[in-house]
Amino acid sequence: MSLESLYQDIIIDHYKNPRGRGLLQSPLGTAFHVNPTCGDEVNVQVATDAQGGLQIGYEGTGCSISQASASVLYELVQGLPASDAEKIRQAFVELMHSQGHAEPDEEVLGDGVAFVGVAKYPARIKCALLPWMAFQDAEIQGGLMPIADTIQG
Ligand code: ZN
Repeated sequence: MSLESLYQDIIIDHYKNPRGRGLLQSPLGTAFHVNPTCGDEVNVQVATDAQGGLQIGYEGTGCSISQASASVLYELVQGLPASDAEKIRQAFVELMHSQGHAEPDEEVLGDGVAFVGVAKYPARIKCALLPWMAFQDAEIQGGLMPIADTIQG
């Protein structure tokens, strides 16, 4: 099996079996983002647990890339301190701006590495970034965004 088809399988698996999908009962921040060119919609919510770990809620509709990306986002940052989540978010944004030339670090990005091929298709980059942009806005709204070293998606 080629790496490319392996990555496609990972994306399809997250699309068909989204991890942790659903909304929070008491979110601190919520952001609803749409990608009009593709018709994707995603709602991302954030809260924190007693230890300060992020709690992520999300729902959405749209293409497999946008919805799988939301599932990967959940898998990667759920339970992490916001500062650690921000490093992962920045790594994912960089990956999507790599035009497919990056060698993503699986230790940082987990299943997010599967999106490296998506970065070759400008029309799909927005799909992949949509949940991560909503996540950033939800954190800002909830007062959870680490201020230093932030970059825009
Ligand atoms: Zn899309």
